[in-house]
Amino acid sequence: MKIVDQMNQGKQFLSLEFFPPKEKNEWPNFFKVAERLTRLNPLFASVTYGAGGSSQGDTLEIVTRLKREHGLESMAHLTCIGANHAALRQFLDELASAEVYNVLALRGDLPQDAGPEVSVCRTLSHASDLASFIREAHPEMGIGVAGYPETHPEALSPEHDLACLQKKLELGGDFVITQLFFDNQSYFDFVARARALGVEKPIIPGILPVVSLKVIRRIVSLCGASIPPEFLARLEEADRAGGAAAVQKLGIAHARHQAEGLLAAGAPGVHLYTLNRDQAILELVDGLLPA
Ligand code: FAD
Repeated sequence: MKIVDQMNQGKQFLSLEFFPPKEKNEWPNFFKVAERLTRLNPLFASVTYGAGGSSQGDTLEIVTRLKREHGLESMAHLTCIGANHAALRQFLDELASAEVYNVLALRGDLPQDAGPEVSVCRTLSHASDLASFIREAHPEMGIGVAGYPETHPEALSPEHDLACLQKKLELGGDFVITQLFFDNQSYFDFVARARALGVEKPIIPGILPVVSLKVIRRIVSLCGASIPPEFLARLEEADRAGGAAAVQKLGIAHARHQAEGLLAAGAPGVHLYTLNRDQAILELVDGLLPA
């Protein structure tokens, strides 16, 4: 099933993002976490690709198992930087054989230690190239693309970044999932700017519950999102007063407040960056949407 067809039915939804655990001995626990989260009835679960050092075969295996064994509609992330057409085609063919018909088309980032041979493929330098490649190679696939409410860190300008998003959608993207953000206004402004440019496809906000100060500092330093100073001050105060548990409590409450505000303002759904944690996510969404 193409998840965009479900999105277009207009019922607000939750979706979940996982990453493949690095070590195989962590997989049984990972699938227990996924199983506990199936009771949230997410519209789909997505699995990152190559991010954080995971292998790309792992993404394929996990999306397949989430679908077959856990009954979750799944979506594989796929990156094109440093990739070649044959390998991408093989990944897509295997995905289709596993009856997974949804892909998040991403450029990805070159590893810092990448040699000169890695960036040879000039025809796959942007996510728009990948979206167009997928649309041609597997027209039956639903394609998501990434959007940046606070602008991608390498973008020439916010306007150019938005024009690049529009191109990704014109060349094959069916919907957008946003980078994480902590101030809903940045999502509302982003959607308004996209709509003014003529973008009509669904833009799903990506929400991350802060579970640790150290983790969130590392994540924002990598992805370019910002933590509003007032929220950061409250997190630091929680850390001083109550340690890690207090930070997590505040992080989950903030994410819950964000999700409520987004849904009340008519967002199509909320995409949750789960960090492969079940308790934090269960607390966050408890009673958020009608069953
Ligand atoms: P692009 O859309 O290609 O944009 C990258 C930059 O190039 C932007 O600055 C854009 O403005 C610019 N640009 C785009 N097209 C052009 C053009 N034609 N000419 C000039 N400039 C252009 N990374 C992973 O490795 N694995 C994952 O699983 C993963 N999952 C993600 C999930 C989500 C929801 C998000 C938001 C990001 C994810 N990422 C993942 C991170 C992503 O790979 C990085 O943010 C990467 O730097 C950009 O990817 P993109 O698809 O947005 O690239």
